[in-house]
Amino acid sequence: MRFDIITIFPSIFDSYFNESILKRARKNKLIDVKVHDLRDWALDKHHTTDDTPYGGGAGMVMKIEPIYKAVESIKSAKSKSRVILFSAKGKRYTQEDARRLAKYDKLILICGRYEGVDERVAEYVADEEISIGEYVLTGGEIPVMVLVDSVSRLIPGVLGNEESSQKESHQKKGYLEHPQYSKPEEFFPEGESASGGQGWKVPEVLLSGNHGEIEKWRKENAKH
Ligand code: SAM
Repeated sequence: MRFDIITIFPSIFDSYFNESILKRARKNKLIDVKVHDLRDWALDKHHTTDDTPYGGGAGMVMKIEPIYKAVESIKSAKSKSRVILFSAKGKRYTQEDARRLAKYDKLILICGRYEGVDERVAEYVADEEISIGEYVLTGGEIPVMVLVDSVSRLIPGVLGNEESSQKESHQKKGYLEHPQYSKPEEFFPEGESASGGQGWKVPEVLLSGNHGEIEKWRKENAKH
């Protein structure tokens, strides 16, 4: 899977994609993330990527020409690609979208900024417009990280343990995973002594070693 990100702030991505699971996935060539500076496709010597809105009003709008040129040069006839524009007005992103998008070879991801993007990008350039929730962010870069992360987890080999992604919350509509616990068996918050006070305990059944009972408890405590 190849992710091509179009942004005017490429360095925002330096840290996130160079840590942990995504770093390993890139190293193992399971995913490839290429961040493109939109200014490279700007037409003028000042590398302008935004302009004032027709009809007036506050703020600036991202121009269509650099975005169109960027997408055209990144697209490839050989791979099955999808162009996605991030927008607060888009369709709400879900785990089902992550599963659907994981089937493409290449995702071209356009980050908006300022007041948004010339509407003709949504109409003619992008295949779909995605929102990650009902709130407004400063730019599309965080939504892109959300998509790259959630899609990457579904690519075979990325998690190492395939069971993890198959049993997770949202694997089916409405499904929420059972609660998880780790050591210690009993935790004493500050001020409570290990001898006197009541600690916060892990459910007994999880310590029992009885796999049948544990599985039953997990099923009962997941939401279907
Ligand atoms: N004026 C726009 C509106 O009212 O819908 C908001 C523009 S926002 C400040 C700038 C950019 O951030 C958008 O073009 C989009 O790329 C991104 N963005 C903001 N909120 C988002 C969300 N909930 N989901 C996806 N992208 C978002």
